[in-house]
Amino acid sequence: MKAVILKDIGEYQVVEKPIPDIRNDDDILAKIECSSICGSDVHILADPPGIQAEKGVTIGHEMVCRVVKTGKAVTAFSPGDRFVHDPNLSCGTCSYCQMGMPNMCRNMTTQGVDLDGAFSEYIVVPERAAVKISQEMPAERAIFAEPLNCVLSAVDKVRLLPGESVLILGGGPIGQYFARLFRLNGAGRVLMSEMSEYRSRFAVKSGADAVVNPGKEQLVERVKEETGGMGADVVVDAVGTLADDAIACARCGGRILLFGNNQAARQNINQSQITLKELTVFGSYIGRYAMPDTVKLLESGLLDLDDLITHRIVLDDFKKGIEAMQRGEAMEVVIYPEL
Ligand SMILES: [Zn+2]
Ligand SMILES: [Zn+2]
Repeated sequence: MKAVILKDIGEYQVVEKPIPDIRNDDDILAKIECSSICGSDVHILADPPGIQAEKGVTIGHEMVCRVVKTGKAVTAFSPGDRFVHDPNLSCGTCSYCQMGMPNMCRNMTTQGVDLDGAFSEYIVVPERAAVKISQEMPAERAIFAEPLNCVLSAVDKVRLLPGESVLILGGGPIGQYFARLFRLNGAGRVLMSEMSEYRSRFAVKSGADAVVNPGKEQLVERVKEETGGMGADVVVDAVGTLADDAIACARCGGRILLFGNNQAARQNINQSQITLKELTVFGSYIGRYAMPDTVKLLESGLLDLDDLITHRIVLDDFKKGIEAMQRGEAMEVVIYPEL
């Protein structure tokens, strides 16, 4: 089968690999219907890499799968069933797993980082990570499950009330998912801060009432203008370097959600403003048991994501997709093993 592997630092290659087989009794061998390129894949292929992946591993972690074969101990899936899954595989036995925080698992392995992933034709997945989807769900909707699993876990933390205002810093795919979810949650005003014109166009489609370009306008002033002089009730940093802007733009007593993750960045933040404004700051890392809710949401059809798919390519054309992502001129790049 074809697979896109991490060849060396900053380098990938489309290669032929043997089709994998079930190793454990709870494994599922699945055919990949389609996959998509995540911002993390761009970090993996950067030089120096923002995320360190194993050399030779098949990259990619967002995928829609169809069961081909099941191990002896698999009970909930049969050949032909379709599923999405959380590629961050927790051990189930460490203290954090036992405390209900599998996203903090001490023995976590991730498909597309340490284990073979999605940019391929077949994959082996443990049953516990998989969540069934209907035969009817379009693959191009289900493909959003993995990032939405993470975003839904984060949205769950801030408990938005109907009518509250939200500011999202960063209009990449993640920022767009936040905007659409908060809209569905009944946000009063949704504001987005984004410098790129390409991404700003999607912000409008995502239901943003105003898009601020912080390269040209005073962000804090604009946010105050848009929120009756108060600042936003909820501010999300979807980039990973904007905590200080988030602090400045939140109203007194507001909530800040730090979602974007840049492990190399070190910010100067105005800590006294957190105290003086009595802000609540949430960190949110990947998904925590939110995949069943994510599937429920996707199956409901309430969330319209179709227009975020900007590219459809085959594995052989991976270069086209990753380069568009690297230029910031793509939202969702869907990859089919073949067309
Ligand atoms: Zn992802
Ligand atoms: Zn664990």
